[in-house]
Amino acid sequence: MTVIMIYDDGNQRPVVDLAMGWYKVARDDEASKGGPTVTYVITEPCIGTKDQSCVEVCPVDCIYDGGDQFLINPEECIDCGACEPECPVEAIYPEDEVPEDMEQYITKAANHFE
Ligand code: SF4
Repeated sequence: MTVIMIYDDGNQRPVVDLAMGWYKVARDDEASKGGPTVTYVITEPCIGTKDQSCVEVCPVDCIYDGGDQFLINPEECIDCGACEPECPVEAIYPEDEVPEDMEQYITKAANHFE
């Protein structure tokens, strides 16, 4: 028997747990545009901090040591949002809410995992 559980991550973004794993579900607006799903991004305040609280709560272990900071693999992140409130320096944002002056960290993560 397959058990399907659907969670609301608090941001109207459902996460589906098919018992054997986690699957990210695109937001309705993104899915309708055929665009990519939003993932979370770690930004500048992580540099020099690297607190690791985010690493400990990530259910899919998609946060990696990127040298000067931790980085989220956008291909593996299921957009659950668990890491965001754990960061003591508020370095983590949903991709579409990253402040303009830190948008380079979206590219930094993408390039790291290419
Ligand atoms: Fe991991 Fe954060 Fe992505 Fe959730 S949102 S899967 S905790 S990196």
